Amino acid sequence: MPQEEQTSVTRDSRSRDGQDDVRYDAHRIEAKWFERWQQEPLLYAAEPHSTKPKYYVLEMLPYPSGALHMGHVRNYAIGDALARYMWMNGYNVLHPMGWDSFGLPAENAAIQNHTPPRQWTLQNIAAMKAQMKRLGFGYDWSREVTTCLPEYYRWNQWFFIRLFEKGLAYRKKSLVNWCPKCCTVLANEQVVNGRCWRHEDTLVEQRELEQWFLRITNYSDELLRDLDRLPNWPEKVRTMQRNWIGRSEGTLVDFKLEGATDPATSTISVFTTRVDTIFGATSLQLAPQHPLVTRLTKHNDLLRTEVDQFIAEQRKAREVGDIGEIEKHGVNTGRFAVNPYNGEKVPIWVANYILMDYGTGAIMSVPAHDDRDYEFAKKYKLEIRLVILPLAQDPEETAVEPKLPFTTMQGTLVNSARFSGMDCEAAIKAMSEHAEKNGFGKATVTYRLKDWGISRQRYWGTPIPMLYCEKDGIVAVPEKDLPVILPENVDITLTGGSPLGRVPDFVNATCPKCGGPARRETDTMDTFVDSSWYFYRYTDARNDQVPLDPEKAGYWFGDHGIDQYIGGIEHAILHLIYSRFWTKFMRDMGLIKNDEPVERLFSQGMIIKGGAKMSKSLGNTVSPDDMMERYGADSARMYTLFATSPDRELDWLDEGVEGIERFLGRVYRFVARNASQASPDTQLGTPLAPEARQIQRKLHQTIKRVSDDFQGRWHFNTSIAAIMELVNELYAAEGRVGEARVVAGDSPPSLIPVPLLREVQRDLAILLEPFAPYLAHELWEMLGEKGSLLRAPWPKYDPALAKEEEIEIPVQINGKLRGRIVVAADAPEDIIRERALAEARIKATLNGKQIVKVIVVPNKLVNIVVR
Ligand SMILES: [Zn+2]
Ligand SMILES: [Zn+2]
Repeated sequence: MPQEEQTSVTRDSRSRDGQDDVRYDAHRIEAKWFERWQQEPLLYAAEPHSTKPKYYVLEMLPYPSGALHMGHVRNYAIGDALARYMWMNGYNVLHPMGWDSFGLPAENAAIQNHTPPRQWTLQNIAAMKAQMKRLGFGYDWSREVTTCLPEYYRWNQWFFIRLFEKGLAYRKKSLVNWCPKCCTVLANEQVVNGRCWRHEDTLVEQRELEQWFLRITNYSDELLRDLDRLPNWPEKVRTMQRNWIGRSEGTLVDFKLEGATDPATSTISVFTTRVDTIFGATSLQLAPQHPLVTRLTKHNDLLRTEVDQFIAEQRKAREVGDIGEIEKHGVNTGRFAVNPYNGEKVPIWVANYILMDYGTGAIMSVPAHDDRDYEFAKKYKLEIRLVILPLAQDPEETAVEPKLPFTTMQGTLVNSARFSGMDCEAAIKAMSEHAEKNGFGKATVTYRLKDWGISRQRYWGTPIPMLYCEKDGIVAVPEKDLPVILPENVDITLTGGSPLGRVPDFVNATCPKCGGPARRETDTMDTFVDSSWYFYRYTDARNDQVPLDPEKAGYWFGDHGIDQYIGGIEHAILHLIYSRFWTKFMRDMGLIKNDEPVERLFSQGMIIKGGAKMSKSLGNTVSPDDMMERYGADSARMYTLFATSPDRELDWLDEGVEGIERFLGRVYRFVARNASQASPDTQLGTPLAPEARQIQRKLHQTIKRVSDDFQGRWHFNTSIAAIMELVNELYAAEGRVGEARVVAGDSPPSLIPVPLLREVQRDLAILLEPFAPYLAHELWEMLGEKGSLLRAPWPKYDPALAKEEEIEIPVQINGKLRGRIVVAADAPEDIIRERALAEARIKATLNGKQIVKVIVVPNKLVNIVVR
């Protein structure tokens, strides 16, 4: 629809606009208002004390890479339109912006260009901030947050110490994800299909390292449950989080390794959701990385070779992105495990399709009742033993043997000793209790979600505020010594571990407990720590006593969090799950009252060009600076809202921006010609001439459509299209303006009254303000308005005035009046015909008769000829 709309607008403007008209000079207008807005630092400031209702609208803060891309512009144009709409609706609006400014690109740039990360980052911030201002985004810069500055990151350290005191930050040695390109550890959330989230071509390796973890799993249940309390989040995001948390109920069962000499290492824990089938287990299957496999292969080179092969196959499968499609291979270790339910020995296999990061990395294989196990058993000729029979349809009949594998829960146990005869569900309960009573297992809930590994072996991040003392072990830096400042002039190379480890002044410290020497932690924090709570800091950004004032945060977050948060779907898991965790922790500390950080979430679609994602390597990027240079900021940002609805992918067309520029020019020229200075208190006479009524109706319909779209649907493309239609109506009526003098009894005047023309232009400026603020302000001034447009009340539409005019049309049958219908004036013939034939009385009269012809005289009558 938008495309067609544009062409018609263009054609129309050529035919009506004379060449000699005043020219719409976006650069002149935008430069003028840019200067004025710079002089008004409080223009977009949230009010500290206000009786107005509050509204917190936020776009995700960018990484300062050096220049905005069009995806940013789209994201911010949505938020800015909403903020402006809320200002004009009388809200106290908080609309801040900041910089997610720690992270690897700064370090990589430092290595390449020999510029210190801090300098590079601050330069980029300055450049991007200038772009944002030039685009006319209305941010409260007095609350700007820059996460790489000590004023901010000291509070990351403060929170870390609180987490440590509560046992929610801990250090352990474990297998971790290592990106060889980043030269650092990654969290599970940062591994996508086995690759680094920043390096799509780089496979992540497993390394064993001592790392700091945050115990996000303490909140697994709540993080899952509260997803149901977020109806205003996209369903897609909630589903992704549900799957990521991955709750499953089942039973942990300990098998014993037969012939094990060391009882401490003889247990193989298996997690199963179907313990009712355990009498049908005919093997155990271990992941190739399972610790027992490492032990079993120590003196068995043949086995080692096979296992290495499996690890390679898993890696390859992750590379193509689908481990589920892997061709299943296994190898028998020659060892046995004992099933604790029946004392039976089952062979232990290693299989390439068992993943160490799911469950315990060990499963029991029940071929008769599981698809995957069945396939595997067939391939390796393992025993298949039936232990569940389908429920008989008729109690008199005996159950028949099912086709294998039989995987549903609608069955009864057989061949399962004292549990035989139970139905599956009852058996799971009884058998879990049996395991618990006998000390070899228990009913349990597992989660896919693991604790959040936050140690990074890189320089440009928040130093972890911990010390290692030979006497006292791990000691937190005392609060009075915060912040632990990130040193400057550090030799950043990608070798030899954490760069901070090579700075003796940083590493060597004093133990606050014993006064002896201590070594400082040299890892820095994952940058997702910074973004987990930054939006609270905006409510109290300059506080140097505490991270935030609970009262101020309470005002802006209320009970439900940020009123509207806007950002890309790529943050559905990482940022949005970490910040939900951080919110729950802050609530438990008593800092805030809300359980969730964000009440409404909106994920905008991506911008592509020529059918492909914009990328430098494809050469299909579009620069916001270039667009502003060619068409102006208003056109560039308005096009991102007009091309399609904001949730959909946008295929960029420069011609589209040009079309918007032409439309804005059309508006500008109309107002330039018609900005009447008539006194605003002139009353609109009634009745209006049909032409005037048509414009009035269109105006109220447009206000309704734009206002309705702001209520959550956000189809700004249709809002803008409606404004374009209104402008078309104005052009159609131009030249027929006059003073409307209505004397009672007179026939209505045929002119558009000046007060109406004035009202419609005034409302047009207001309606355009959220989308094209520069031009809207210029129009406002041209119309002689003195007050601030940003605080002008949003127009209310009158449903009676918006309503299409309706007329009553008589319906005849063979020339005799038989009924009447009410239709919109100018309703098309087919609609009138349809309505006439559907009218109840007409229908009754027509019953059984044959219709020969239906004659429709639009706006007058319908005559149905029957035989
Ligand atoms: Zn990487
Ligand atoms: Zn000490």
